[in-house]
Amino acid sequence: MSTHALEQFQEQVSQLLLRHRSVLDIMSKLDQTSASINRTVTKSITDCGCIELHASKQPFHEVDSLDVAQQRITNHVTGELCEHCKELVQQAIGSNLFYLTALCTQLDIKLPEVLEQEAQKCNTLGLFNLT
Ligand SMILES: [Zn+2]
Repeated sequence: MSTHALEQFQEQVSQLLLRHRSVLDIMSKLDQTSASINRTVTKSITDCGCIELHASKQPFHEVDSLDVAQQRITNHVTGELCEHCKELVQQAIGSNLFYLTALCTQLDIKLPEVLEQEAQKCNTLGLFNLT
């Protein structure tokens, strides 16, 4: 998403904020929509079954290069989201993004600046500090 598209999205969100003007409403909706993302992913595993979770301890102590990391570190997920689950997860992420953007707007924080700062942080920290 380009900076311009982010600005446009933030503007669009700010125009739709009437019902949830209070920052408290926005904060509680942000929590609720965040929980909803986890719930939809969980339902993909427990109800649909399109993805499975096989979790175990990650062997970070054995990893000393990017190649080894890519072989050994796993996201614990097997399978792929089916179209239906993917749509639900995307909707949940979208709602969360809406309220996150709304919170930014209420606190006079520009979304493109947040993204820019985070991208720079990722560049600076590199692979091994993101765990
Ligand atoms: Zn599914």
